[in-house]
Amino acid sequence: MENNADNERPGHPLADSANKTGHEESISLDLIPDPFVILSEEGIISDLNASCARLLGIRKDNLIGRYYKDFGPMKILSEKVTESIKNATEDFDLSVYDNKHYEIFILPFKTRTGLSRLRIILKDITNFVSLERELLKRNKELMVINTLSSAFISSDNMDSVVENLLKKVLLITDYKIGWILLKEEHAFRLKSSLGISAELRGDIEGGAFEAFSNDLIKAHEPIHLIESPALDRINALPREGITTLTVVPLIYSQDTIGLLFLGSKAGKGNSLDFDSAALLSLVGNHVSLIVDKIKLFLETKRLSITDGLTGLYNSRYFYKQLDLEILRSNRYGHSFSLILFDIDNFKQLNDTHGHQAGDDVLNELARILKNVSRETDIVVRYGGEEFIIILPNTSEEDTINLANRIRMAVEQNLFIANHGGGVNITLSGGIASYPQNASDAKRLLNAADTSLYAAKASGKNKIVCFAGKSHGNSI
Ligand code: GH3
Ligand code: MG
Ligand code: MG
Repeated sequence: MENNADNERPGHPLADSANKTGHEESISLDLIPDPFVILSEEGIISDLNASCARLLGIRKDNLIGRYYKDFGPMKILSEKVTESIKNATEDFDLSVYDNKHYEIFILPFKTRTGLSRLRIILKDITNFVSLERELLKRNKELMVINTLSSAFISSDNMDSVVENLLKKVLLITDYKIGWILLKEEHAFRLKSSLGISAELRGDIEGGAFEAFSNDLIKAHEPIHLIESPALDRINALPREGITTLTVVPLIYSQDTIGLLFLGSKAGKGNSLDFDSAALLSLVGNHVSLIVDKIKLFLETKRLSITDGLTGLYNSRYFYKQLDLEILRSNRYGHSFSLILFDIDNFKQLNDTHGHQAGDDVLNELARILKNVSRETDIVVRYGGEEFIIILPNTSEEDTINLANRIRMAVEQNLFIANHGGGVNITLSGGIASYPQNASDAKRLLNAADTSLYAAKASGKNKIVCFAGKSHGNSI
C-alpha cells in the first residue's frame, strides 16, 4: 500500500517538522509516544505510529489499508468514529484494552488536498485510573471510620450503640437486611436487627443461628459468603427470601465477640469482589473495636459503682442515687425510704471463724438482700458489715414489711454451711423515710442511723423506724 503521508500530515508539531516524504512523515509519527492512527473517510487506516502498532500487536505494514474496526480498542470506538467521520466533529472517549485504560481523542482534519481524515490518539491513563481508584477507596475507608465512630460518641448504652452501628453499616455497605449477634456468657445474643420479619427475629432470638455461628467461627475466615445449599440449613432464611448471607465475624484481641450478618434477597448481585470484601473487613474491624471499647467503658463504669467483695452497689453510687431520689420525690411528691442494716455481733463471728469466713458471710448476705428486695430497690454495701437499701416510691408500712422479710430470711439461713457446721447471724435495721423523717439527704441518713442504734440498743435482731415503732421477734 502506498503511503501518501505528505497529503495526510495531521498538523502535529512533530509531524510538521518532517514533511518531505512518506518515510519522513512516518518517522515523525513514531516520535509521538502515544498510539496514534489516521483513518480515511471510509474508516481505512492510512497511517499509524509504531506505538499504535505495538498496542494492536500487529506489524504496521499489515495494518495500513485495513478497515479500522478489525482492530482492538478501535472496535469500542466504532460508533463515535463513524459519527466523527460523518459529521467531521471532534469527539472523546474512554476505553479499556488489554487491561489498560485509554483516553481517546478523535480529531477530524483535512489534508492539504482537501481529503477528510481522522486522527485518533490513545492516551494511556492506567496510572491515573488506579490512582483515582485508590483515592476513592481511601475516601470510602475514611468515610467508614468516620461514620462508625460517630455511633460510639453518641451513647454509653450498648444496645443503642449497636443499633446505631447496624444502621450505619447498612448505609455504608448498601445492604438492606442485617443483624448483629454479640457473645454474652458464652452464647450469641441478638443485639440489633434491621429489615427482617418478626418471625426471623424470633428465630434468631430463639438460638436458630447458634450452632451455625459456632461453625463459622471455627472456620477462622474473615468473611463468609453463604448461599444455597449451605444457606438452606437454616429454614428461616429461604422462608424470608434471603438468597445470600454475608457474615463478618467481629474479632477483638483474637476473640470472637460477635457476628455481623448481612443478607440480600434475589436480584441483588451475590458476588463479593475484592474491594467489597476489604470494605466489609474494615467495617467488621471497626464494629469490633467500638463494641469492645463500649464493653470496657461499661465495665469500668460498673466497677466504679460496685463493691468488690459482694458485687452490690458501693457507697459512692448510693450517695448519687440518694440525691436523685430526693430530687424525684421533690418533683413528683411521692416518698421513699431507706433501710440501714448492720450485722449483729459480727466481730465475734470473725473472731470465732476467721476473717475469710466473715467475708463469705458478707457475700451470702448480699445474695439474700438482692433476692428478697425488689427489682427497683437499690441494694448497697454501705461499708464493713453495714448495708443500705433505697426503696423508691415506697411507704413506711411497705418498707417495714420488706425489712422484716429480710431480717427473717437472714435469721433462718444457715451461713457458710460449706465451711462445716455453718453459722447463724441476725440483722438489726433502721428505717427512715423521706420527706416524713428528714428534710435532706444527710438528715435522712442520720435518721436511719438513729433508728438502727435504737434497734441495737433494744436487743438487736430488730427493725426500728424513725417514728419510734419497733418491729422484731424479740418484742
Ligand atoms: P454490733 O452487733 O454492735 O453491730 O456488733 P459488731 O461486732 O457487729 O460491731 P462492730 O462495729 O464492733 O464490729 C464490726 C466488725 O465487722 C468489725 C470488723 O472486723 C468486721 N468487718 C468489717 N468489714 C469486714 C469485712 O469486709 N470482712 C470481714 N470479715 N469483717 C469485716
Ligand atoms: Mg457496724
Ligand atoms: Mg455490727
